[in-house]
Amino acid sequence: MAKQFVDVLVPVALDQTYSYRVPDEFALRPGDIVSVPLGARDAVGVVWADEVAIRPGLHNRMKDVELKLDYPPLRPELRKFVDWVSEYTLSPRGMVLRMCLRMGDLGPARDKVGVRLAGPKPQRMTAARARVLQLLSDGLVRTKSEAAHEAGVSAGVINGLIDDGALETVVVPPEPVARQPDPGHQVPEFTAAQAKAAGALRSTVAAGNFSVTLIDGVTGSGKTEVYFEAVAEAIRCSKQVLILMPEIALTAQFMDRFAGRFGVRPAEWHSEIAPRKRARTWSAVAAGEVSVVVGARSALFLPYANLGLIVVDEEHDPAYKQEDGVRYHARDMAVVRSRENQIPILLASATPSVETVVNARRGRYAHLHLPERFGGQHLPLVEAIDLRREGPPRGRFVSPRLAEAVRIALDRKEQALLFLNRRGFAPLTLCNSCGHRMACPNCDAWLVDHRFKRRLVCHHCGYSMPPPEECPKCHAKGSFVAVGPGVERLEQEAAELFPGARILVLSSDLVDTVERLRQELDDVAQGRFDIVIGTQLVAKGHHFPKLNLVGVVDGDLGLANGDPRAAERTFQLLHQVVGRAGREEGRGYGYLQTHQPEHPVIRALIAQDRDAFYNAEIEVREKTGYPPFGRLASLLVSGGDKHGTEAHARKIAAAAPLHDNVRVLGPAEAPLAVMRGRYRFRLLVKSPRNFDLSGYLRDWLAVAPKAKGTLKLEVDVDPQSFF
Ligand code: ADP
Ligand code: ZN
Repeated sequence: MAKQFVDVLVPVALDQTYSYRVPDEFALRPGDIVSVPLGARDAVGVVWADEVAIRPGLHNRMKDVELKLDYPPLRPELRKFVDWVSEYTLSPRGMVLRMCLRMGDLGPARDKVGVRLAGPKPQRMTAARARVLQLLSDGLVRTKSEAAHEAGVSAGVINGLIDDGALETVVVPPEPVARQPDPGHQVPEFTAAQAKAAGALRSTVAAGNFSVTLIDGVTGSGKTEVYFEAVAEAIRCSKQVLILMPEIALTAQFMDRFAGRFGVRPAEWHSEIAPRKRARTWSAVAAGEVSVVVGARSALFLPYANLGLIVVDEEHDPAYKQEDGVRYHARDMAVVRSRENQIPILLASATPSVETVVNARRGRYAHLHLPERFGGQHLPLVEAIDLRREGPPRGRFVSPRLAEAVRIALDRKEQALLFLNRRGFAPLTLCNSCGHRMACPNCDAWLVDHRFKRRLVCHHCGYSMPPPEECPKCHAKGSFVAVGPGVERLEQEAAELFPGARILVLSSDLVDTVERLRQELDDVAQGRFDIVIGTQLVAKGHHFPKLNLVGVVDGDLGLANGDPRAAERTFQLLHQVVGRAGREEGRGYGYLQTHQPEHPVIRALIAQDRDAFYNAEIEVREKTGYPPFGRLASLLVSGGDKHGTEAHARKIAAAAPLHDNVRVLGPAEAPLAVMRGRYRFRLLVKSPRNFDLSGYLRDWLAVAPKAKGTLKLEVDVDPQSFF
């Protein structure tokens, strides 16, 4: 009998597959997950292609597939998706596959051991033993550690009682990863507009083919409630659903809401899931035992058995872009995955990305609009505070008018949020006597003063040092002053301005675990704080019933950076953060402190005129050929020495194939010219919209000089960040 050969893709930084011989004991088919020898070790890979033609003379040197793992095969749609993402992002196929194979390690089945009361009382009795027997006298099964914990004894006491025959062990089956949600558990009464949108979504899901729908509704309009109807419909059709969230911090409140609507919590997928839970979730998703997964972008690469719907919540969120390894945009790739699977996808946002709005306006995406807040709540009233005319006193950051508004909110027993998208105490530390600024030794960046931690920290490489006693340059003592505000400095000011107020600072560097963050967000929701001072961490998605006032301390912060999406990002972020106000009771107010109240972004925020913003922004993009009217790619060349790096970037630029429609800009020093001790030069590639930019880049890089030594080239198709 002829031996079979298969091409196996392994999760390493390679595009090509390896051929292996299939031992007689088992047959393999594409998608099967196998263990194969790879160099000196074994790797888990996936049979990628049908039986390869037997290549005479080659198969003798071929190694055998070692093992077929006991998982369902990766489905053809997922394999095509891997190929697609790899082609598009120019990332090695093996690295994309790797994202699908994060199944963790289940290890040998380690069932939990439980104990319950058995036979006669033991001969030897101690107080500890008596407590255990007392606890278990109810006849229930507890795990060993539960029994020990509840009785307040060590594990040794439990083991002793087992040895003496007073307790017996039983195997406790593991909790299922998630129980079946009930689509009819708690259906809300919809307003007319909501009901119409929900009806449209149900038909979309029931139809089941590929389509993209934008659910565009103001903050608090019930987008979530409405797309839950689509989720319910998918569950009724026995299909799996993926709900993508930009940040895992957002999932806590969401899981509870989901449970309120469907009776059970969905399965969760993100980087902080413990390995064993991960393994069980992965397997359950592959086996079709889980019907709804809520997850971060990596959940897109799970091996769903029967995916029927994808929802991308807060679709505009920049956190959907993965900026290292495989650089992909999870929203865009989710649309691709839906197309490969031929299923509907929903994009939800109160401030959709310009790309999505253009697609909706062109009729490529269906568009559902929810123009009003649920329950007759008004959108907040937004006002600008012109810092040129009514700014705070020197060295202060809260203007008198904003302070007054906070006082009124506190008098009313309502909450206030002061928003400043800057971690730490101050972005710059300067010597008062010689003007020396504390900078990172590895990066072209200032060190940020983090007073809570008593360190000066680089936000780019993590370098940190204690605040110096004296100026390293002029040796003046105690001469350093903080320049500009961060959330920690704002807290100091708020504590002075509003004595007695309970203040919480929420910033990603101050919460070390997701659990802790969830707790703090919940404390805010429960009204345990009066003033919240936060970075963008608090801007998104949260529902704080008592919050009616939002003050944006520096409305100009995001507008200054030279990124093509600066205006869009600022509009989205500020609109979202102001939208936290007045969601439940009472009128919400937003104050924007700004030096440029006439800026179109600020004007659109004040007028609550989203369309004005989108119209203006779309016009600019169209004129300049920026996405979505043109395409961009970034080639970042970095290296340990400046001239070598720049020279290499120039050589790459010189190798660019000539093309009428493509413009190669640069190389130019990146705005962050040095990071982690590496010099950075960027090439930007601009092309028309319907151009195969990935193909162009591939042809180019095939002939461009390869990076050697410390040099490195990072390709980013559809870049989101330009620093
Ligand atoms: P969005 O996602 O658009 O910000 P949500 O779906 O979070 O809006 O809804 C805002 C609030 O209003 C939530 O507390 C939600 O439970 C409530 N809500 C929205 N629609 C309804 C409804 N039809 N019945 C009851 N509560 C609703
Ligand atoms: Zn640094």
